[in-house]
Amino acid sequence: MKILIIEDEESLAKILKMGLKKEGITADYVLDGELGQKRLELYHNDYDAVVLDLMLPKKNGLEVLKAIREQNVSVPVLILTAKDSVADKIALLDAGADDYLVKPFNFSEVLARLRALTRRPENVLPTELRIDDLVLVPKTKIVTRGGKEIKLTLKEFRLLEYLMRHPDQALERENIFSNIWDFQSNSFSNIVDVYINRLRSKIDSNGNRKLLETVQGIGYKLKSTV
Ligand code: CA
Repeated sequence: MKILIIEDEESLAKILKMGLKKEGITADYVLDGELGQKRLELYHNDYDAVVLDLMLPKKNGLEVLKAIREQNVSVPVLILTAKDSVADKIALLDAGADDYLVKPFNFSEVLARLRALTRRPENVLPTELRIDDLVLVPKTKIVTRGGKEIKLTLKEFRLLEYLMRHPDQALERENIFSNIWDFQSNSFSNIVDVYINRLRSKIDSNGNRKLLETVQGIGYKLKSTV
């Protein structure tokens, strides 16, 4: 899961990012409305939800929200607002917000709202992902191959989950990177290669059928069939 935070209070944006990171959720943040809108226009497919502050420099949250909805960007949006009037809330929902939180709020509320927003029917997660004898359970974060548990770091787990959700597709390094890592991270192709190699050594060792395949000039794919 990946979240975009549009919030000009950088300290708050950082707290949110760190809090989400602890939950295994990747987040990017931008500090003004104009940048936020541009990011969403170009990269909305990379994000599962947006946390959008209302009072922002350059373009306020409501303007950003209206602009992206006009362009049919349908990513769920959680509004952060310091205001507390009923009229504002209705205006927000009319403009296409999915939910809102009034500042100050607890991090646990943000997390709960984001979970609810990303739990839409079309996004219902299967209870387990299976390719050959490789099984990944998103909820418990347990991965097994041939019934034997494989210990993965959180990033390795996210990477494998992403690959398993797109079986038999040649996934580009850039695509893998933008779905798993922060936007600010650099030298993506190298990071992806390093993690793929670690993952490969964990899931494709011990004489098992090799599932993780390098696609020359593109990236990687997880093969469901021989
Ligand atoms: Ca603000």
